[in-house]
Amino acid sequence: MTTDPRDRYPKPPFEAQSQAFPGLSARMHPQPDYGERSYRGSGKLAGKVALITGGDSGIGRAVAIAYAREGAQVAISYLEAESDDADETARWVRDAGQEALLLPGDISSVEHSRSLVRDTVERFGRLDLLVNNAAFQKTRSSIDEITEAEWDQHFAVNINAMFYITKAAVPHMKPGSAIVNTSSVNAKHPMPSLLAYSATKGAIANFTLGLAQMLVEQGIRVNAVLPGPIWTPFIVTGMGEDSQKSFGSQAPMARPGQPAELAPIYVHLASDEASYTTGGLYPVHGGMPIY
Ligand code: NAD
Ligand code: MG
Repeated sequence: MTTDPRDRYPKPPFEAQSQAFPGLSARMHPQPDYGERSYRGSGKLAGKVALITGGDSGIGRAVAIAYAREGAQVAISYLEAESDDADETARWVRDAGQEALLLPGDISSVEHSRSLVRDTVERFGRLDLLVNNAAFQKTRSSIDEITEAEWDQHFAVNINAMFYITKAAVPHMKPGSAIVNTSSVNAKHPMPSLLAYSATKGAIANFTLGLAQMLVEQGIRVNAVLPGPIWTPFIVTGMGEDSQKSFGSQAPMARPGQPAELAPIYVHLASDEASYTTGGLYPVHGGMPIY
């Protein structure tokens, strides 16, 4: 594979390929790169236990594979309809010699969110790393088109569930634990067609900065990653056909990022190497001018 970042991965135009939400990775073309063949671990997360929401596909799958190769056991939250994708992620985690725990269900339920933490701790006896990564998005061209129910679903999945799961997780997290939230470049530069989604991603960034200050007293670090356009099922379920075809052209790199290009920063933020790093927002976005 070339080392020139412009040419490492597929560029637009892509074929339009709409799938119903939440979508399946296996049906995408080209296939996303999850680092299956490239990610090399070096024990950075040895002995740790991670819970990753949306760990079945996209960024979450690349993070699950990398965490397992770094020595962590991994619990994966996802929707029932994504069990084929979740099974594939679990296969890679086990292939790395780690245990995978599959936890299907809807995180907009407080009860289910709490059960994710309870089941992870019951199975592995501890929880060191929480990756709040699941999200919902729907493109709309005017505010009239956004129903109240759809607005509420964005907030329920993207930020309310993050609060439920984090609140349940913190009592189990010892000093040295870490939380990594997935926000978006939309937190800083909201696209009007993603009005509801961008509002939740701004909330996630702000939640991250406040929580980091709160949890520093318990020795728990909290950071967020702000991805730019990344080639995942999210794109073929949440965006219109034109946006799919030209996806990635909005970044100076002129292509979308791949999940494999996100995993290393999630590893770093989770690892003890990042011991002075908390309350940070880390863009991985192919040069989009945001700050
Ligand atoms: P993805 O579709 O692979 O992951 C999103 C996951 O969210 C799904 O796999 C699903 O399991 C989970 N999810 C959605 N609703 C849920 C619910 N009600 N209950 C339980 N789980 C639910 O796509 P992705 O792009 O890897 O998304 C991961 C994160 O990255 C999201 O937070 C997304 O906002 C963020 N992000 C993505 C992009 C991009 O261009 N792909 C850009 C910026 C930020
Ligand atoms: Mg999925």
